[in-house]
Amino acid sequence: TSIVDWTKSESYHNSFLIAKDDVLDFAVKNCIDHGLPEIAVSATQGKLLNLIARSIGAKRILEVGTLGGYSTIWMGRALPDEGTLISLEIDETYAKVARENLAKAGLEDKCKITVGPAGESMENLHPDVPFDLIFIDADKASYPKYFTEAKRLVKKGGVILVDNVVLFGLVNDLSVTDEDLLHFVLGIRQLLADIKGDTDVEATTITTVGEGGFDGFMYIVRK
Ligand code: SAM
Repeated sequence: TSIVDWTKSESYHNSFLIAKDDVLDFAVKNCIDHGLPEIAVSATQGKLLNLIARSIGAKRILEVGTLGGYSTIWMGRALPDEGTLISLEIDETYAKVARENLAKAGLEDKCKITVGPAGESMENLHPDVPFDLIFIDADKASYPKYFTEAKRLVKKGGVILVDNVVLFGLVNDLSVTDEDLLHFVLGIRQLLADIKGDTDVEATTITTVGEGGFDGFMYIVRK
């Protein structure tokens, strides 16, 4: 069997499906210039988030983990005129860069960032109207907590998306002992265990491959 270059495979598809985008290019460069880690979703995944938001007609979106606002821009663009997005980020510096990127995208009115630990920020949210879509993409160890809060905050029939649930297959690799990695994978294992037998939700994992390696999203529907 030949070794497949998955980065090339992804680029090939994107050359047909994703147009050059000055706003997103600016955001990527601005993040690099400010020394942010290069851990945003890929363009392929950003577009998937955008299409999911549009497909479900999302008017209210909650994001957990802003970084430089790259995924925020993709989802923010899916919102109708009256739509809003709240993104939660612990790092003030990242939030500042994200606000610049959102302004460049013309999304500064629709998309607002709340700085602080996301668990607390979520606990403080008591929206009159629940969220249609919640995207969880922050510290993996807190995923069980974020899931519990997301279930409270999303509408019935709404969608919770969770990023990095496969992590190169490390999540199911019981031989992982590295402390930092364990911190990551234990959060996701606990999330899976919590969802099993949870009659409030239905969920499946979409495994992805490309420039970010092997990973996956969990797609959860609140019943
Ligand atoms: N969603 C972003 C994107 O695709 O463009 C990427 C988010 S990045 C993978 C994860 C982010 O979560 C980082 O910016 C990190 O600072 C933030 N984060 C980590 N722990 C957090 C916490 N306890 N509360 C809020 N944000 C946190």
